[in-house]
Amino acid sequence: MWFRGLKRMSLVDYPGKVSAIVFTGGCNLRCPWCYVRDLVLNYNTLPKISEKYVLNYLKSNEKWIDALVISGGEATIHKELPDFIKKVKDMGFMVGLETNGSNPVMLKFLIRNRLIDYVEMDVKAPLSNHELYRKMTGTPNLNIGLIRKSINIIMKSKIKYAFRTTVVPTLLKENDVVKIAKEIKGARMYYLQQFKPMDSVIDKKFMNVKPYSIKTLTDLKKKCKRYVNTELRGI
Ligand code: SF4
Repeated sequence: MWFRGLKRMSLVDYPGKVSAIVFTGGCNLRCPWCYVRDLVLNYNTLPKISEKYVLNYLKSNEKWIDALVISGGEATIHKELPDFIKKVKDMGFMVGLETNGSNPVMLKFLIRNRLIDYVEMDVKAPLSNHELYRKMTGTPNLNIGLIRKSINIIMKSKIKYAFRTTVVPTLLKENDVVKIAKEIKGARMYYLQQFKPMDSVIDKKFMNVKPYSIKTLTDLKKKCKRYVNTELRGI
């Protein structure tokens, strides 16, 4: 398996653990506000990092790294993912996965076979509003049923997990975010992520979108907390 990025150390991407993060190239969605444009659209232009390199890196740093987090792009579009994870697990590391939830079959396989210990899944818009979900993901034919399936699989599983929403002004209204919280009522954890306008967004329009204020996000957190344990990120 090949990767297009490696963050050697993180204290925040796997709860309570020191982790390294790998980034896979390519994604099946096209969220216009996504800030990893090259990883999604031009990953072939980014340097390739081999699986062997990543495994060697983990081996040489096993004294202080507890977990490997696999992020993207969208890692579940890569068929080789389970085999790679098996190798990481055999070395004794915990594995976290970040996913957009569009591949419930792979997700179920990974959970059933105890290949992942933690998962964070994006819930990008209310599931009841297909049009908005498709707008948020820049994917007009997205099957929202797949996202719903992934949520159910995760919530019924015994692994640690969190859902997360990037609160993108101009696309998501405050009420939309509260609707998401209702739809994932009782989930273990829900993160509201601050939107950051960056040069590297997919649709350049989003470079000039002003993020919601901290006050607005704090109020939103309170409203969401009625349904699910909610925290803010990136503020
Ligand atoms: S934000 Fe959207 S386009 Fe970007 S990596 Fe995630 S799912 Fe893919």
